[in-house]
Amino acid sequence: MRVAFLGLGDIGALMAVHLARDPFDLVVWNRTTAKATTFAREHKARVAATPSEAVKNAEVVVTCLPSSVEVEAVLHGAEGMIDSFRRGTVLVDCTSGDPPTARSVAAELAARGVDFIDAPVSGGTVAAKAGTLTVMWGGEAAVFERARPVIEAFGKKIVHAGPVGSGDALKAVNNALLAVHILSTAEGLAVPVKAGVDQKVALDVINASSGRSNTSENLIPQRVLTRAFPRTFRLALLEKDIGIAAVLAEDLGARTPVISLAAARFHEARTKLGEEADHVEAVKMIEEENSVEIRQQ
Ligand code: NDP
Repeated sequence: MRVAFLGLGDIGALMAVHLARDPFDLVVWNRTTAKATTFAREHKARVAATPSEAVKNAEVVVTCLPSSVEVEAVLHGAEGMIDSFRRGTVLVDCTSGDPPTARSVAAELAARGVDFIDAPVSGGTVAAKAGTLTVMWGGEAAVFERARPVIEAFGKKIVHAGPVGSGDALKAVNNALLAVHILSTAEGLAVPVKAGVDQKVALDVINASSGRSNTSENLIPQRVLTRAFPRTFRLALLEKDIGIAAVLAEDLGARTPVISLAAARFHEARTKLGEEADHVEAVKMIEEENSVEIRQQ
């Protein structure tokens, strides 16, 4: 199966590895060409010089870019994909994008005989490496079937969320919850520390109680207490996701003040910590505001 993969970032490169083997014939494209060249040196793949060249013969095209803005750029920008698709190609957009753009891209492609599903992923770089990502996709079942081997190569739990745009909607909401958990857990650890409770004791109790979450059980012990803060998922991307969730809620007339507040707080964190910070570094903003450090004693 001829596959093109565009976007070899933190998670994209790990997903593409699973397609760099039989029965796939993989072509990769990345904005920074050096990443694509290194990838092709280490894996069974060829490098395309442009998005247009990448998709020319592909049966399935996967995009994994920061946001829908970049998906539009790779479609319509210089040497973009739009005029080069074969009829019958499926574009699987694994970007955590926004639902309205997913719908408009799907409609534009449909007029050219090209099919689209939004298929954002969760599970982070660990699941991407293992090929066990959760994939939430939006679109037609018959279209999904044509792309199934590609999605199964990197996905384990693969869920139909609904029509085009539903995968993106679900992903944005999931990540809004992640953002809320990071902020609330950091606040929840700052307070007992100020009250003189040992941090380790506080975390042990939370993790044996109803306040626990993936953030308290995994992210805080592995990344914050150790002060390692590895870069696996940029804070800027989580800020984008919670922003999508906040706009979606507003468009639907849903009342979600917690999500709106978390979106504002992540906007602040992005401004303070910059484009390259990891998402868990948002904890540092709360530490600074409270003059505490959540670290191994
Ligand atoms: P990165 O920021 O690590 O990589 C982004 C990729 O997009 C790079 O290949 C980058 O190219 C490319 N890119 C950026 N801007 C442009 C542009 N204007 N035109 C063309 N290409 C561009 O992101 P991730 O790989 O972490 O994330 C990709 C998507 O997956 C995002 O939507 C993210 O929210 C989502 N996601 C990420 C997870 C993670 O754990 N990292 C988990 C789940 C979902 P270049 O190399 O030139 O910079």
